[in-house]
Amino acid sequence: MAIKFEECVHNDFPDKYNVNGKKVDCEKGLQAGCKALCCHLRPALSPQDLEEDIEYDEKSPYLIKREKGFCIYLDENSKCKIYEKRPLACREYSCLDDERIPREVRFRLKGIVVGK
Ligand code: SF4
Ligand code: SF4
Repeated sequence: MAIKFEECVHNDFPDKYNVNGKKVDCEKGLQAGCKALCCHLRPALSPQDLEEDIEYDEKSPYLIKREKGFCIYLDENSKCKIYEKRPLACREYSCLDDERIPREVRFRLKGIVVGK
């Protein structure tokens, strides 16, 4: 079962580089105008993410650090600046079944972003 964005820190932690949990094709999502809405949800970091110096919010350890409501690693083109080492929670995440993402956005993405 996929690890939820904000529960990651409470679970067992697989090596994120061995996780094969890609549920959505984010390239297609971005082309369809998703604007990387998931990247304002504050994923929790795993010990492995912390060892790699991915920054967390000191007021809410160990949720990823944000600025202006979005993850500090999101660039101006809605791309992840640390894609190769993005956190475990980001690798496992799917926006399609997350009720925090507006229903109309999920409806629009359904059928577009379903991964392999
Ligand atoms: S998980 Fe969904 S909202 Fe986030 S970048 Fe991918 S397609 Fe867009
Ligand atoms: S690390 Fe990358 S994929 Fe994860 S929330 Fe931040 S910008 Fe999005």
